[in-house]
Amino acid sequence: MAKNYNIPRGTADILPAEIGRWRQIEDEARRVFGVYGFSEIRTPLFEETELFARSMGQTSDVVQKQMLNLAAQNPNQPGVELSGLSLRPEGTAAVVRSYIQNNLDRKESRTKLFYLGAMFRGERPQKGRLRQFHQIGAEVIGPQTTSPYLDAEMIALSLEILRNCGVANPKLKLNSLGTPEDKENSSKQLRERLQPAIVELCEDCQSRFERNIFRVLDCKKKTCNAVVDKLQLGYAHLSEESRQYFEAVKTALVSLGVDFEESPRLVRGLDYYTHTVFEISSSSLGSQDALGAGGRYNNLVRDLGGSAVDAVGFALGIERIILATEGQAGISPANLEAFIVALDENTMKKAFVLSQLLRQNGVSADISYRWNSALKNQLNQANKLGAKRVLILGPDELAKNAITIKDMNSGEQQVVSLDQVVSHLKK
Ligand code: AMP
Repeated sequence: MAKNYNIPRGTADILPAEIGRWRQIEDEARRVFGVYGFSEIRTPLFEETELFARSMGQTSDVVQKQMLNLAAQNPNQPGVELSGLSLRPEGTAAVVRSYIQNNLDRKESRTKLFYLGAMFRGERPQKGRLRQFHQIGAEVIGPQTTSPYLDAEMIALSLEILRNCGVANPKLKLNSLGTPEDKENSSKQLRERLQPAIVELCEDCQSRFERNIFRVLDCKKKTCNAVVDKLQLGYAHLSEESRQYFEAVKTALVSLGVDFEESPRLVRGLDYYTHTVFEISSSSLGSQDALGAGGRYNNLVRDLGGSAVDAVGFALGIERIILATEGQAGISPANLEAFIVALDENTMKKAFVLSQLLRQNGVSADISYRWNSALKNQLNQANKLGAKRVLILGPDELAKNAITIKDMNSGEQQVVSLDQVVSHLKK
């Protein structure tokens, strides 16, 4: 017996019945980005592994555990080296790589880019967590882009997309990590304060203590939570300047009527963040409740070899938006305008040419190739396809160079000259 092939674990087919909802979300994101003055960018699905390691941080969970690397060599083509390449786990690194490589900094002082597309992480699949998932993301990069207003605008923009996609009560958590020096200080302080409690931390956090201490703060495990609770985290580690910046972001959010919760525990797992970080979640999702996240990353462009320009960005998960708004109908696919039925072999030849003529003129059309099956069956097929009209071409019609058009709603029929069919249907 032939083998059945299954879809790889952690991936999903997006079936025609679901496409309407996907299109609705993607179209809405594109519309809102347009209103905010963003342009689309499309980068490859894979990049040098080193790019991700350098940008997200060698010690981040994604780089340590979730990178999907391409096979070292294609055995059928020994010359084709694929080593050192990985499927992209997120969008920012590639957008920054492209910004630098294409000298976008020389073209404009502020570059506003958005992307939509598949991302890949070797995670343990569960509801809301896939190995191939899709993000809607945006980045603003440029020399004069450090502004608390811009941070607030990016947050408002992500919330607007989510709300317009039907997310009822998105919850916003906000934090500031400060400058790289502030981060250095707070990591030192954290290490000192957590050292006595290290044995109480979960195994993962014990290793995070060594390699990425900030990650201990947002561990979901109860025991780690209790340890972090006792730290009573605040903003003492921030410099005066960073504190003022954070205050200004909050004031700008208030001016836009955006509710938020301050969360000193929100650290995000990636090295590149500085100052503002945020996460948006929904209570209608289960344990994987994050809809999206983002923040400011002022040193990444320089760290990846570009000029010293600042940047801020975010990414939203499309599958999570769909889960959080389950039950909301997508746009229904456009109904077929015309379904063509021929009644014999001879008229079939003419009907076939007509189907192409209609499509070329922008009239959605399909045809029954089964001219020898009963008219009733063919009308049933038209019904299943949701056709608005059935165009029947039999020998009588053909003799008059005409066609019968049946309106599937009213049942009315009329005979129209073949030369006028296109203009008749376009009316
Ligand atoms: P991150 O880059 O991890 O902050 O992800 C940003 C958003 O992408 C998250 O808030 C999720 O909505 C979505 N996301 C991240 N990882 C996954 C995954 N493995 N499966 C589905 N969605 C994901």
